[in-house]
Amino acid sequence: MKPILVVGASVGGATAANTLALAGLPVIMLERDLSWVKPCGGALPPKAFEEFDLPQSLISRRVYKTTIYSPSNRRTEIDVVGLEEGDHDYVAMACREDLDPFLRARAVANGAELIEGQLLDLSVQSDGVEVTYRAKGEREKQTMKVEVVIGADGAYSTTAKALGLERLPRCIAIQERIRLPEDKMARWQETADLYLGHDVSPDLYAWVFPKSDHVAVGCGAGPGNTAEARRLLANLKQRIAPELAGGEVFLEEAHALPMHPREHIAFERAMLIGDAAGLVVGTSGEGIYWAMKSGKQAALTLIDVLPDVSEKALRQYEKIWWKEYRTMYRFLQWLQKWGYGNERQMEVFTDMCRNKDVQQLTFESYMHKRMTRVPWVAQMRMTGDILAAQVRHYLRPRTKRMSS
Ligand SMILES: Cc1cc2nc3c(=O)[nH]c(=O)nc-3n(C[C@H](O)[C@H](O)[C@H](O)COP(=O)(O)OP(=O)(O)OC[C@H]3O[C@@H](n4cnc5c(N)ncnc54)[C@H](O)[C@@H]3O)c2cc1C
Repeated sequence: MKPILVVGASVGGATAANTLALAGLPVIMLERDLSWVKPCGGALPPKAFEEFDLPQSLISRRVYKTTIYSPSNRRTEIDVVGLEEGDHDYVAMACREDLDPFLRARAVANGAELIEGQLLDLSVQSDGVEVTYRAKGEREKQTMKVEVVIGADGAYSTTAKALGLERLPRCIAIQERIRLPEDKMARWQETADLYLGHDVSPDLYAWVFPKSDHVAVGCGAGPGNTAEARRLLANLKQRIAPELAGGEVFLEEAHALPMHPREHIAFERAMLIGDAAGLVVGTSGEGIYWAMKSGKQAALTLIDVLPDVSEKALRQYEKIWWKEYRTMYRFLQWLQKWGYGNERQMEVFTDMCRNKDVQQLTFESYMHKRMTRVPWVAQMRMTGDILAAQVRHYLRPRTKRMSS
């Protein structure tokens, strides 16, 4: 059998390659740049560590509380707990410069081959996929023939482009990594902050995510360009200036974040996973877990259907994915539009997050990745609180923006 090619050896690609290698299949990872660190806040649910067998040493900091600031700077503090308190009630903060190399090395140790090179084009043929790429540091293009291609090459996916698919709608997310003096760092020992407001993030939210020795300060910046994203980040830094005083920026990073999943993610001899498939979820912008999960699911489907690599066979992956997650994606997309649509709604969203049932359900589904049936009493309480917040914010004059 010809090898299976995974394009992109980041969180999604390395997980797919590892799953295939463990099954004894020949697999090649093609990664454009092994020294590149994917711009990312690095927030991960504890479930990811269990499900993908990740060592706890990859956790740079555990966050037990989160504070949401509305556009007018009203605060809602939330404990990171699910429906029942447990040992796994936290958000794990990881650094991509640690996580990605770990996943790649593990896939290689289990038998995957790693080539540092860039996919340029591919052509699906009846007896395989002809892949054109350029190895890093080489001038000449090279070709190889593979059985199937798994596109794990992110939001600007060359694989998707070569398959003739449309560009996904996306926003730019930007962040700075800042080393703070010890007394300032103490503020973020166990807490991550989220900031709402169109001046800091038109479509998502802005954040401060703490790591062991620095904070990542960033914003999901709407479908603009990097210059626009920089302006929003400057607004955020001004909003929280006293808390960042004396900090030293050691990295500025920005990248696209897909805003909508693709309906079709499997084709004849090709599958898309993670950001290449647009599988970031709305409202939170969470993408690492979903890239790993889709990478594993695509690989398991392939193991199951080989040697049949027809579109019909590979669409099993798509069917399983959408059966399991369509409702979640739709709900979170709707919630993002409803909650972040304008600044009054952001105020309502902040108030909604004060409801204990909303807090527990949010973290239950985030931490454990399971949907829970909501008891009707809780449903009534949530609906009552949301309606009250909605009425309150639309009846009273707009709250003035305040500095923190
Ligand atoms: C600023 C920012 C903050 C974020 N914060 C979080 C967060 O806190 N938590 C969270 O869960 N998600 C977060 N995300 C989203 C998360 O980073 C992505 O969803 C996740 O990395 C997707 O993984 P992936 O494997 O699909 O693709 P990527 O991680 O984007 O990796 C794609 C890989 O493909 C390679 N590649 C690209 N083109 C080619 C080519 N032509 N040939 C060969 N290789 C190629 C790239 O070099 C890269 O290694 C954030 C995103 C951004 C931009």
